[in-house]
Amino acid sequence: MTPTPFSSCTLLRKDFSSREELIDYVRALSPQAEGDASYAALGGATQARAALSAADPALYGRTRNYHDGKVTRLSPYITHGIIDLNTVRNDALQKTGPPEQAYKFIQELGWRDFWHRVARQHPEWLWSDIEPYKTGWQPADYADHLPADIAGATTGVAAIDGFIRQLFETGYLHNHARMYVASYVVHFRRVKWQAGAAWFLQHLLDGDAPSNNFSWQWIASTFAAKPYVFNLENVAKYFAGAVDTRPGNNRAIDAEYPALAALLFPHLPPQAP
Ligand SMILES: Cc1cc2nc3c(=O)[nH]c(=O)nc-3n(C[C@H](O)[C@H](O)[C@H](O)COP(=O)(O)OP(=O)(O)OC[C@H]3O[C@@H](n4cnc5c(N)ncnc54)[C@H](O)[C@@H]3O)c2cc1C
Repeated sequence: MTPTPFSSCTLLRKDFSSREELIDYVRALSPQAEGDASYAALGGATQARAALSAADPALYGRTRNYHDGKVTRLSPYITHGIIDLNTVRNDALQKTGPPEQAYKFIQELGWRDFWHRVARQHPEWLWSDIEPYKTGWQPADYADHLPADIAGATTGVAAIDGFIRQLFETGYLHNHARMYVASYVVHFRRVKWQAGAAWFLQHLLDGDAPSNNFSWQWIASTFAAKPYVFNLENVAKYFAGAVDTRPGNNRAIDAEYPALAALLFPHLPPQAP
């Protein structure tokens, strides 16, 4: 059966004899999509409930920054309205003893809620600088478009290329990896956060403009008091084994923070030791 072009009144088929059949159907709905944009991640309420039941909010608080930490991967289900934040929060409170054990987890849910409230109140902020950059650079100093080597995962910074490939292959990135990639794009390559944010939204299964764009602005410092910068030592601490963190393959990010600050933000006063 040939699917009809997608429109607001199209009722999508739900009956498929195999996942391949479903993928073919969806692919035919989006003939303009490039490449094989199917991921291993599964959608639907059953999968959302399974992810929720596997969540461990107390362990999350202690391990969430590590690549193999107990993150939930609930974001695609939340973004697409399959599960809501209240349900996730109530589940966390039910699973933990004292509510403090769920504090860090619920705080992260709170960020999502906060970003959405800000977007509702100020939709114009989604794509414009909320505040000036605190980097010593002017907006005009940043490139408008994403360089081809970033879009192609060939920057030559092995850890960053590894994260970008992971984004392409899975439609997901750990929060810490999103921070590294965004910081690399905006601060190490001096590209406008808008270009990076639009690129992420094309690839993330959980693509959500308020969470994504305000996070990019937070990294960029247009919605924060200072820019977020990382170095190889930090990536190696949290992601060793998940991406290539050998110094010889990551020269551009292999420096101490004062040296990086002097290199990336030469117009700012030197950092206090
Ligand atoms: C540059 C950048 C871009 C981002 N883009 C998106 C996006 O497009 N869509 C999106 O849902 N999140 C985005 N985030 C926030 C966060 O990275 C993801 O929500 C999280 O990594 C999703 O994985 P998870 O479900 O395993 O999260 P977990 O760590 O298990 O957290 C549980 C839930 O809390 C919420 N949450 C956690 N951290 C954040 C956060 N920092 N901000 C807002 N909500 C949070 C999410 O709904 C998430 O599903 C972005 C963060 C950064 C730094």
